[in-house]
Amino acid sequence: LKVTVSEINIPCSFGPAFEGERVRGADLLCQMGGGKTQATELVKMAEMNEIEDGKVELIGPDVTDIEAGGTLPLGIFMQVAGREMQPDFEPILERQCHHLINYIQGVMHIGQRDIAWVRVSKGAMEKGFTLKDLGVVLHAKFHQDFGAILDKVQVTLYTNQEDVDKLTKKARAEYKFRDERVEKMTDEDVETFYSCTLCQSFAPNHVCSVSPERTGLCGAYNWMDCKASYEINPTGPNQPIEKGECIDPKLGQWKGVNEFVQKASRGAVTHYNFYSMVIDPMTTCGCCECIAAMLPSCNGVMTVSRDYTGETPCGMKFTTLAGVMGGGASSPGFVGHSKFNITQGKFIIGDGGLLRMVWMPKMLKEEIKERIDKRGKEMGCPDLYDMIADESVGITEEEILPFLQEKGHPALTMEPLVG
Ligand code: SF4
Ligand code: ZN
Repeated sequence: LKVTVSEINIPCSFGPAFEGERVRGADLLCQMGGGKTQATELVKMAEMNEIEDGKVELIGPDVTDIEAGGTLPLGIFMQVAGREMQPDFEPILERQCHHLINYIQGVMHIGQRDIAWVRVSKGAMEKGFTLKDLGVVLHAKFHQDFGAILDKVQVTLYTNQEDVDKLTKKARAEYKFRDERVEKMTDEDVETFYSCTLCQSFAPNHVCSVSPERTGLCGAYNWMDCKASYEINPTGPNQPIEKGECIDPKLGQWKGVNEFVQKASRGAVTHYNFYSMVIDPMTTCGCCECIAAMLPSCNGVMTVSRDYTGETPCGMKFTTLAGVMGGGASSPGFVGHSKFNITQGKFIIGDGGLLRMVWMPKMLKEEIKERIDKRGKEMGCPDLYDMIADESVGITEEEILPFLQEKGHPALTMEPLVG
């Protein structure tokens, strides 16, 4: 289905054909987010009389106001109302930003939530693109694709630092609330997992399987969200998967999931494990919030989040790792995962779980400190947080090993990671 400019009132061409298109260095006019500035997306439900349908407002400078190659912070605040709307649907609408913004020719979108990244090309600007067009697109497409649940859409775009910071603070509280909705659930509690194939336009063989204890690797979809998405759109990208017979409880492999994944990847992926990064891990697409990698000399693993741009002990930066494994393959020794997943009960539990974690970027570690403390305690290692090295300790395995030995890190005495 091709949507043309006449249906969506923006100066650029628009449609799925432009989804995979990149905006590269020489053609770059302006970027927002991507580690350079803060860029945050939030969908919130509003009362019918609270918002005005079709109202799109830009508060702050536009891409036309800055020099080529410049940056802006960005907040995209989408308010929706409707008789059938529920707060449960907010994350689903929010995740649409990714492909909808990518549909605009000359505009690229990466990431999600508070780690979004929007790149605007000179070509788009020559056609007359302004930031307001993001809101025009989101308004039109939300109506077109989700007309059954919503009646009104209002979009406010912020590009002043203090407004973006305010929205980000509000958004993080929302993300936390959403994440914690699956907190008390376990994979054993349910017979049905959900698929997510939203990212197949970028990574054609990639199929996320989302269980209560494994949120989508983008961090934007958990089991509850996929369930709600299936209710809204029964033929959409989130399908129920009957787990079926358990093939391997330790590594987390089920017959029903394998069959589904084989079909949904058109035969490219025959099986994968939910709970292992060493043996046949789940496939990874470029959206992942974090990528975990083995550190064999430390008998442990590390993970790096998108927002950390420095070197890591596995010898690769996040961007390099994402480039190598983000295409939708299962890459033993590596796995993409969400930030929240790090402290979920089944996180690489087949490889020893969170107790294998020997290195994380300081900012990620601090962000989830409370949860690491809680999970460490549950796993019998209340001081785990202090035992995990970060870039202040070192960025090679040789540099961090003495620290791990001194702290008595549990990974050092666990069974060999490979072998
Ligand atoms: Fe869905 Fe996975 Fe893509 Fe997230 S990363 S949108 S869960 S396919
Ligand atoms: Zn993706």
